[in-house]
Amino acid sequence: MVANLLDFDLEGLAAFCDSLGEKRFRATQLLRWIHQKGAADFAQMSDLAKSLRDKLAGVAEIRPLSVLSEHSSADGTVKWLFDVGNGNAIETVFIPQDDRGTLCLSSQAGCAIGCRFCSTGQQGFSRNLGSGEIVAQLWHAEHQLRRRLNRAPGERVVTNVVMMGMGEPLQNYAALVPALRVMLDDHGYGLSRRRVTVSTSGMVKMIDRLSVDCPVALAVSLHAPDDALRDQLVPLNRKHPLEELLAACKRYLDSAPRDFITFEYCMLDGVNDSPAQAEALVQLVRRAGVACKFNLIPFNPFPASGLARSPRERVLAFAQRLQDAGLVTTVRKTRGDDIDAACGQLAGEVQDRTRAGERLRRMPIAVLEPAQRV
Ligand code: SAH
Ligand code: SF4
Repeated sequence: MVANLLDFDLEGLAAFCDSLGEKRFRATQLLRWIHQKGAADFAQMSDLAKSLRDKLAGVAEIRPLSVLSEHSSADGTVKWLFDVGNGNAIETVFIPQDDRGTLCLSSQAGCAIGCRFCSTGQQGFSRNLGSGEIVAQLWHAEHQLRRRLNRAPGERVVTNVVMMGMGEPLQNYAALVPALRVMLDDHGYGLSRRRVTVSTSGMVKMIDRLSVDCPVALAVSLHAPDDALRDQLVPLNRKHPLEELLAACKRYLDSAPRDFITFEYCMLDGVNDSPAQAEALVQLVRRAGVACKFNLIPFNPFPASGLARSPRERVLAFAQRLQDAGLVTTVRKTRGDDIDAACGQLAGEVQDRTRAGERLRRMPIAVLEPAQRV
């Protein structure tokens, strides 16, 4: 079988070179050609002997993802839909802001966690992406945008990566870690650990493993101040309740490149956005003693969710309460709205292969009546 070199981090490439009877330092050259220069063809690799290039062409390839569509938003956001076979598609979104370029990557086709407010979750799970498919999203975006924006050689377009596209990255751990290593490698994309963020719905054991194998910035999707509500919104909470999750967050800080965890909180009208819930959230993180920042995400509605976005004033009031308690809080701007590239809208064309979507749509959810809102 022909190996896809996008699947390998430096160590993996070195082992591959070994297996061909080639010196390990060739791995560094290959990584540079592929990821720093965007080479897709061994013929371009001018500092490799012709004999080696021919040998590589026989046993390996640099296999990009095939693009189904690309959309650019008026605000500069770019969204790609990639075909990953069998009727599955994944999405990648580039979000430029000031001097930063953030790329949001997918880790799975679909997602098995099934969060109530997430369209990916409602589609059910199709399959894990391979390391090469995770890295190929970055490879494609970086090199295509570099050419399009006429960047000088070596001048990066993507400065930050967030694993916040489709899928639960920590449920695809074996593929995630080599992909992260390529992002961090100085011969790869050379991104600092602080600028690569893994977002998780709360896979406690995997948070611990990540802290050992590849500590990068961590975002945890909280969405509720208590277990009763979080059980409904993020079904994984029934397995790993808040106390356990927050304890894992605290442990993670010992090896994290940043001195805080980012808590994401999707603002759902009448569900999790009351002043009393803001107060409960403050108490929760205080009790747990986790240094954190909050990122409030206005809910991006999608058909059949049966949920609505919190009104702007309520989001701001919620943010103010957290701020007043000394918690740094940002409200995420919705970007790429006109091209459906906002969080949780990454439905793509992934087929709903399971009954999960239907099941979720039927699941009742406790919405507080206005009178109950404090
Ligand atoms: N599975 C991981 C990462 C992907 S989701 C996780 O859950 O953290 C990235 C972020 O988008 C999460 O915080 C998720 O809760 C949020 N999200 C999902 N659906 C959303 C929606 N419809 N509107 C706003 N944010 C949403
Ligand atoms: Fe999966 Fe994250 Fe969506 Fe939950 S929010 S269903 S974990 S992608």
